[in-house]
Amino acid sequence: MIKQKKTGQVIVISAPSGSGKGSVINGLLKKNKNIWLSVSTTSRNIRENDIPGVTYNFVSKEEFEKEIKENVFLEYTNYVGNYYGTPKGPIKEKLEQGIDVILEIEIEGASNIKKLIPEAIFIFIMPPSLKVLVKRLKKRGTDSNEKIIERFHAAYKEINEVSKYNYVVINDNLEEAIDKVDAIIKSEKCRVDRIEEVFLDTKEEEIHELLMDEEFINEGLSERM
Ligand code: 5GP
Repeated sequence: MIKQKKTGQVIVISAPSGSGKGSVINGLLKKNKNIWLSVSTTSRNIRENDIPGVTYNFVSKEEFEKEIKENVFLEYTNYVGNYYGTPKGPIKEKLEQGIDVILEIEIEGASNIKKLIPEAIFIFIMPPSLKVLVKRLKKRGTDSNEKIIERFHAAYKEINEVSKYNYVVINDNLEEAIDKVDAIIKSEKCRVDRIEEVFLDTKEEEIHELLMDEEFINEGLSERM
């Protein structure tokens, strides 16, 4: 009766560093098996919790610039002195397989994706307060004080841009935040603009047959008697 789009959706998730977005996305990937997280390429230093090839593809600045010239990226940016980019290759493949793709990128990248894929879903994950944000940035322990201040200012600027997104999820309680993001993705699947075709061309006789089966007629008779 209704044919809905089978292709996956692009979900852009942005959040300032220190908002706990990593935990939200990890929880979401465990809960919803139809999601694939795009692995970005970056020229930043590897942190303690990073797994090369899983959290990021780590390359030198020179290698990144070579990949820019080779048109490897769907979008890329320079964020607090390091390159970050989304490789094009695997995304199309996953979407065609009906798998949803998460791009975990900052706001400039998100606004570039909006131009390229306007139907993408844009979700912003917000820390519960600036105090919590600072605490989380400091707790990481791998960035210098200068970098923490730089990241705080970048985060402050990003929070101001929240109105450009479709959804905002406050990460106060991790489980609730994961459930909310999952619910957003599932609701988006029901959007009317994901309907490709509605076929209501049933013939009069078929409608009559659908309504007038023996049980229905007998029930009608017994009610009247
Ligand atoms: P971090 O260094 O904390 O892992 O990431 C810094 C920022 O870069 C985060 O806001 C993250 O979402 C963003 N980011 C990660 N990968 C990409 C990407 O491929 N493109 C863009 N535009 N931003 C990215």
